[in-house]
Amino acid sequence: MNLFDSVKSLKGVGPKTAEVLKKAGIKTVRDFFYTLPRDYETYAAPTSISEIRPGKVVIKGKIDSLSTRRARKRNLSITEGVVRDATGAVKVVWFNQSYRMRQFVPDKEYYFTGNFELKNGRWNLVSPTAALATDIDPTSGLSPVYVAHGSLKSHDFKRFFKGARDKFAEIPDLLPTVKPGTRREMLFRAHFPSSLRDTVVARQYLAYEELFELILAAKLNRRENEKLKATGVPFEADKVRKLVASLPFKLTNAQRRATWDIFQNMEKPMPMNRLLQGDVGSGKTMVAALSAYEVISAGGQVALLAPTAILATQHFESLSKVLEPFGVKITLLIGATKKKTEIKRAIVAGEIDLVIGTHALLTDDTEFKNLTLVVIDEQHRFGVEQRQKLVLKSPEDKAPHLLSMTATPIPRSLQLTVFGDLDVSILDELPAGRQPVETKILEEVETREKLYPIMREILETPPDAKGKGTKMHGQQIYWICKAIEDGMGGTMTEATSVKTRTRKLKEIFPNKTIEFLHGKMKPAEKDAVMERFSNGEIDILVSTTVVEVGVDVPNATLMVIENAETYGLAQLHQLRGRVGRGSSRSYCFLLTSGEMAPSRRLRELEKSNDGFYLAEVDLKLRGPGEIYGSLQHGALDLRIASLSDTKLISRAQADVEKFLQNPENMVKYKELMAGITKYQQLTTLN
Ligand code: ADP
Ligand code: MG
Repeated sequence: MNLFDSVKSLKGVGPKTAEVLKKAGIKTVRDFFYTLPRDYETYAAPTSISEIRPGKVVIKGKIDSLSTRRARKRNLSITEGVVRDATGAVKVVWFNQSYRMRQFVPDKEYYFTGNFELKNGRWNLVSPTAALATDIDPTSGLSPVYVAHGSLKSHDFKRFFKGARDKFAEIPDLLPTVKPGTRREMLFRAHFPSSLRDTVVARQYLAYEELFELILAAKLNRRENEKLKATGVPFEADKVRKLVASLPFKLTNAQRRATWDIFQNMEKPMPMNRLLQGDVGSGKTMVAALSAYEVISAGGQVALLAPTAILATQHFESLSKVLEPFGVKITLLIGATKKKTEIKRAIVAGEIDLVIGTHALLTDDTEFKNLTLVVIDEQHRFGVEQRQKLVLKSPEDKAPHLLSMTATPIPRSLQLTVFGDLDVSILDELPAGRQPVETKILEEVETREKLYPIMREILETPPDAKGKGTKMHGQQIYWICKAIEDGMGGTMTEATSVKTRTRKLKEIFPNKTIEFLHGKMKPAEKDAVMERFSNGEIDILVSTTVVEVGVDVPNATLMVIENAETYGLAQLHQLRGRVGRGSSRSYCFLLTSGEMAPSRRLRELEKSNDGFYLAEVDLKLRGPGEIYGSLQHGALDLRIASLSDTKLISRAQADVEKFLQNPENMVKYKELMAGITKYQQLTTLN
């Protein structure tokens, strides 16, 4: 068995399954073994059905009479069945989990655990989890729970691991710092625990492994970076001061400090490698603009890379306003740009000072004359290779300075321990006059009474002072949906799609312009819609999370997020950051199905607007196996490392030091070296 073989080489994993796994980032056999349980359920000591009492219960029996129906309430499917044991029968019910219809084999025994409670006037076992009785270790009663990915639910993962049970013995060692065989044993214990202790011990080891990789990546990157040379950029205080004086606002102190850090850093003939972290709306773009101007004044070229065409265009427009009066030559280079050949010729000839673009910037035929600074916005959206491509565009013997910007805060605890040697500037202050976004959780049933009148009011409120559109009548609204078309949620919740929601909102607000935006639209279409929204020609924009990244429309003052419970905390905070950008009061409504009490995540979001605080909460709330940030976009793709475990971190740090003392190790431990590349995008910017 080769750990880097495709998951397709595993029993029971066909091409279709492999495709779903791939979307979840599980491509190789190695990824597969490291798909760790999110949690464990205990099915020990089931109660006889005749003895069942209200509250949390475990029962064991066979299930029949399964059926699914739609509730009258929108967005709700109800799946029901009857579980029987030798002593009696009990009704079970699930909401929005129609996949349960496919889970059970008739006449096989399952364990069920959930709350036995009165619901709609009837006693039911409500939304129980279920596991095949023969899968449960009889002494421990433990059953792992895996994160569902699309159509693959926890029980599917259990089936895959059962099929791969005998493969664990073939897992080779990874680290020289632990006893041989530890890795395979610990992975086995994580997936097939025979006691709760097993799960703890396994998690501890796997956290160590992960920290080891993370710290190793950070140290190696630092070493590499120190070997490189760069063009030192002299500090031009007067020029920069003039530019700052021309701005329509005063810089925040945090912006001043960050800019100062960057200027000092770039003066040295070594490449800057700095992460600029600032909450949404903290004004990172302006820091980038000042840094770019500094470099351009000294005769260098600057490239600014943005993750989407919309964002690149917006940066182009706002930076042109600020920098063109000072003689800076700016160009936009995105997929839709015409006359690319001509633009590229001008770039390589040095006629352009600042290029703002998307991936289109990364093609091999885009060459620079004198690339001195690279700014990457929303850095976690780019892979290492993409960034390296840009870095390689600098003059042969020199690396460019690199400024990466992110709104996904790295929790302070993590920063101090793991990223001790990364240069970081933090914008921990919002521009004056910003008000926190008022956030409220609403059950979807309340929508009509509570939300629509507020929406109407927002739409009739005069435009925000900062709104620039000439066609504006009132303030604007974002409405975020999970899916593009009906039946495409990809989650357990059956979400209303962008298209359906647009239609419904048009019925409610017939006199308003309502349009939609999603990732499957052509780039030019997307840009056109965004442009029109930004000008105030669209009142309500119904969109998927494509608006999550950095788009700035100060006149949009209300955001509604449907199926809020299906997003991660970091992502919700990012989304919410699209409003509250002007001087008017802004609102964010988190719609939930109302079937369950709002999660702690949503309640924390309701309470706080502080991205750093929320990042800490997120880190604490997520159990083992869950990924920090959102599943697709998480900057910190850490599986399990408990980053507040400082003892384990110092042990890993010491062990990495030892490991690095022997240069042969880096050749010998191939898998380790290959595995750490994914951390490099976090710990290095070059
Ligand atoms: P982010 O950090 O999320 O990228 P932006 O750079 O997009 O934030 O800035 C958000 C908005 O704040 C922009 O409209 C920008 O012009 C404005 N802005 C930036 N700095 C200041 C400041 N010091 N005072 C007032 N407004 C500012
Ligand atoms: Mg931004």
